[in-house]
Amino acid sequence: MTAQQSQNQKHGILQTALHNFNEAASRLKLDEGLKGKILGPKERIELNLSPVMPDHRVVNIKAFVVRHNDVLGPAKGGIRMASNVTLDDVTGLAMEMTWKTSVIGVPFGGGKSGIQVDPGTISDEVKEIIIRSFTRGARRHIGPEIYVPAPDMGTNERDMARIRDCISYSEALSITDGCYVTGKPIILGGVAGRREATGKGVVYTILAMCEKMGMKVEGLRVAVQGFGNVGSVSAIEIAKRGAKIVAASDVTGAVANDDGLDPVALAAHIQKTGGPAGFVGAKAVEPSHVIEADCDVLIPAATQSQITKNNAERVTAQIVAEGANAPTTPEADEILNRRGVHVIPDILCNAGGVFVSYLEYTQETQREQMTLEEVESRLAGRMTERFRDVFETSQREGLSMRDAAMNLGVQRVVDGVLARGLLP
Ligand code: NAD
Repeated sequence: MTAQQSQNQKHGILQTALHNFNEAASRLKLDEGLKGKILGPKERIELNLSPVMPDHRVVNIKAFVVRHNDVLGPAKGGIRMASNVTLDDVTGLAMEMTWKTSVIGVPFGGGKSGIQVDPGTISDEVKEIIIRSFTRGARRHIGPEIYVPAPDMGTNERDMARIRDCISYSEALSITDGCYVTGKPIILGGVAGRREATGKGVVYTILAMCEKMGMKVEGLRVAVQGFGNVGSVSAIEIAKRGAKIVAASDVTGAVANDDGLDPVALAAHIQKTGGPAGFVGAKAVEPSHVIEADCDVLIPAATQSQITKNNAERVTAQIVAEGANAPTTPEADEILNRRGVHVIPDILCNAGGVFVSYLEYTQETQREQMTLEEVESRLAGRMTERFRDVFETSQREGLSMRDAAMNLGVQRVVDGVLARGLLP
């Protein structure tokens, strides 16, 4: 095990989420009973799937569903497909979703799922079999009023379509009988702009931070770790505004160019060849280079625990925009804060996806049809407004942006608990 891997294990998503919650609970002086009520996941489920492969083999796959909290509405959160995802990771991610839906102000709670498979090693056919097997196994935990999944690392809108179809097919329901999953293709009730929403939301928060700091976006040097949905859309959107993408990576490797990489061409190259290696006009660099690249803005958009005490001193960016969930360990967070780096925390920075999922949910439940213009204008408005709330709270109370966002997110859930009342 490398030093980085052992550090990641020590500070998994759950440890980071617990640390951030415990700090918020003591700042807000929550009493122990209330704290325990909000902390504990409502349900934490392990599923054993046994799908039959095209060659007739039965394979065994572990999957997880966690509904952390539903005080403010049905649990909401994506499905992560990764060979190393654990029940604890899913619990930490579900907890983050509780604060994220609360901060961004949508009537949802927090949930998450995980499937222990490496999506990079399976065919589309096998992935469909696994997704349908997961849907049947998790069916009783999924529903418009229970838990509404969406894409996360390793899953996409095609997988969401399969989930919707699997439910309709096995229960003889119409495809329009309610919102069971968001991030679907538009033809199946998806909303325009959902795929790009997280990345665009990341960029709105960076623009708002630049304005507060008096930094010009044109010419900003940006490094992006992870070039999947969130990373590539963030890179494309910020480059449209005149920023330069100086370094980018995915799980297979990294490339850099001080004069700027073309993010649209890089995304197409990755799609075609499976990784950034060989991208014309770029030099190959060590993946760790991206976190430490000479840049103004760093967008970690890959996975958890990437900025640690081992590399936080070498981050040169003035702004870290957390496209990924929990990319910064608590120790690294302390180092970045001490060094005056402005961290836009995940529960605000990447909340654009769940906000537009909420638009998809309402469109479907009201049998409405929203245009891309409406979606984009509501996304821009909400991200900017919630950024301002978090920024003003942080200035007024002398807190980091993460602590301010956690205070707002946790307090809103507490307010919900108290408004509902504590009796069973
Ligand atoms: P994705 O599967 O589309 O892309 C993930 C990318 O990260 C890929 O390019 C992959 O190669 C890369 N990657 C994985 N491990 C890496 C590593 N160790 N180093 C460098 N690159 C690595 O996933 P996504 O939907 O873009 O999600 C990325 C992050 O954003 C995740 O943390 C996810 O939880 C978070 N997020 C996603 C959404 C969404 O709407 N998709 C919403 C909120 C947060």
